[in-house]
Amino acid sequence: MPRRLFVTTALPYANGAFHIGHIMEYIQADIWVRFQRMQADADGPRIVHFVGADDAHGAPIMLAAEKAGQTPEEFIGAIQRARKQYLDGFHLEYDNWHSTHSPENSALSQDIFRRLKAKNLVYSKPVEQFYDPVKGMYLADRYLKGECPNCGAKDQYGDACENCSSVYGATALKNPYSTLSGAMPVLKTSDHYFFKLSDPECVAFLREWLQVPGRLQPQVVNKAWEWLDGEGDKALGDWDISRDPPYFGIRVPDIAEEKYLYVWLDAPIGYLASLKHYFESGKAKAKGESITFEEFLCAEDTEQIHFIGKDIIYFHTLFWPAMLKFAGAPYKAPDHVYVHGFIGVSGEKMSKSRGTGIDPLRYLELGMNPEWLRYYIAAKLNAAVEDVDFNPDDFIARVNSDLVGKYINIASRCAGFLTKKFGGKLVAVESSNALIREMQSAAKSIAEMYDSREFGKALRDVMALADKANSFVDQVKPWDLAKKAGGEAALQQACSDALQMFRLLTLYLKPILPKLAQDVERFFAIPALAWNDARNLLPAGHVIKPYQHLMTRVEEKQLGALFGIESVPQVTAPQRHAEKQHHAAKEQSVTEGTISIDDFNKLDLRVAKIVKAEHVEGADKLLKLTLDVGGTTRTVFAGIKAAYAPEALEGQLAVVVANLAPRKMKFGVSEGMVLAASGDGPGIFLISPGAGAGPGMRVK
Ligand SMILES: [Zn+2]
Repeated sequence: MPRRLFVTTALPYANGAFHIGHIMEYIQADIWVRFQRMQADADGPRIVHFVGADDAHGAPIMLAAEKAGQTPEEFIGAIQRARKQYLDGFHLEYDNWHSTHSPENSALSQDIFRRLKAKNLVYSKPVEQFYDPVKGMYLADRYLKGECPNCGAKDQYGDACENCSSVYGATALKNPYSTLSGAMPVLKTSDHYFFKLSDPECVAFLREWLQVPGRLQPQVVNKAWEWLDGEGDKALGDWDISRDPPYFGIRVPDIAEEKYLYVWLDAPIGYLASLKHYFESGKAKAKGESITFEEFLCAEDTEQIHFIGKDIIYFHTLFWPAMLKFAGAPYKAPDHVYVHGFIGVSGEKMSKSRGTGIDPLRYLELGMNPEWLRYYIAAKLNAAVEDVDFNPDDFIARVNSDLVGKYINIASRCAGFLTKKFGGKLVAVESSNALIREMQSAAKSIAEMYDSREFGKALRDVMALADKANSFVDQVKPWDLAKKAGGEAALQQACSDALQMFRLLTLYLKPILPKLAQDVERFFAIPALAWNDARNLLPAGHVIKPYQHLMTRVEEKQLGALFGIESVPQVTAPQRHAEKQHHAAKEQSVTEGTISIDDFNKLDLRVAKIVKAEHVEGADKLLKLTLDVGGTTRTVFAGIKAAYAPEALEGQLAVVVANLAPRKMKFGVSEGMVLAASGDGPGIFLISPGAGAGPGMRVK
């Protein structure tokens, strides 16, 4: 039987757009899935079903919808509709994208709850909790603030103190208040349902499940063991799985009283709900699947695999396998949970306000190639639970030098000669070409790296082969052969061999660069490349299509725009057309070499007070200025170190270009430019306004 894989990514919470962390996880899983889809097992092509869904329940969504003046259904509907542009945009090929707010998820969640209850793994007991009498709801810790019971700091959340770092229960807060209404909460008691995770049978099962070799990454197993072995107040507790109304979720079944399943119970069940919807809507059948959802789910050889981030290990290695195991067939504990780290930018945690975040939609809107990001992320990923750092300079280097400079370059240097001089016809590979055989035999080790999610290692090997292919081209010099009398045969041979290499490299890069691989397949006029095609080469006489440029280089200014805090206006095509016409009409009245007043008015010049001026370690010319621009503070790096001592500048007024796109520099983000005069001689002179001007005033 071929391998049968059921693959998921963590369900994103439906209260906001995707961020770069989501996209990184989806790219990781998508590469792995695409690799598996290129494989064939003894009995046929490998079967892979890859699904995702929105996590759409819980109090935060209920409250966010209320704030937006919408029903929760309207609110999550809009979020879900916006997913497609990201998924399509980054070539994330899910078989199905569903929602936990669906009939499938209600049915499955209630079924699992009933089965666990029947096994005496669910019980109810009274819980004392804060209740907001104005809002009429029980308050989760995040909706409570008060004074720290330890140090007395004000406005601390209900679970931990940011001042003294002590951890406590919400009921320990002094003078608590509801962050929803400001009201003083009252303690109230209600019955909650609990899942008996501490049951000896549960614990015994988890110990066994965790230690299956190769199931989980070693760091993940260690973490889970720590929780299992916890003692005292770290001991493994039972899990509170119900909530009182008002709540947006799935009803606890078989009771008259209105109670809901906790969102974290029904969220992972959403994996199965999406799969069920995929099977029952006929989509799975259309892809050649002949069995039912239940049959597939419980089949002995179905491998259930979850890709997740390190923040949700607890849920996926304790609750989730235990729930599935004790619910019984057709449910089955997962076979693997693959965990990745977080993504940061230039060593910093992402923060939108500091301009270091990457907005994936903005990336697409700026026209940046999604495969650049797929390639870059793949190069940074390995099988360990490690954080990934997005470094703009490294991104440019890897895309331009490796991807375009090494790989694409092979085709662009050789294809033209074949088309122009030989009608695109290839000759058979020269039997003495050992490099091609080396490339073919690399298929096995590269496959092992993909399979074990060592994408960075796989790419290093592929790029090392690309280096060798380029050395080959440098050696045979097709451009010289083309000029040489009687050099035709050698030219055709050299270019044919180089393109065979290019085809093999494309095959190895295909899981990461699916769109580009498609373009290359079209250029070669061949069917979709599968992994086994590495065994074959293009036959003598095969005719390629004329070469068209496959990929452009990334430009530094694109990254500048990507990291810009203020938006470079994104305009739609009709808008752009209208603007062009508008400009054309205006420009006629302006003498050549001058600008119109409209052009000048584009500059937002402001008076700024230099609040602070500092030396920048490692910078010869720069001073770091902190500017007060009328209530807002900005950081600007100015090349005036030679002319001014920092202490002399503090308190002075200057003029700043306030609407200049922020620029990411080696030392930080510069949010504007300070105007200064200089002539042929030495000296730089800051421009400052006359007496009476104040920070924030517009200069016109
Ligand atoms: Zn404290």
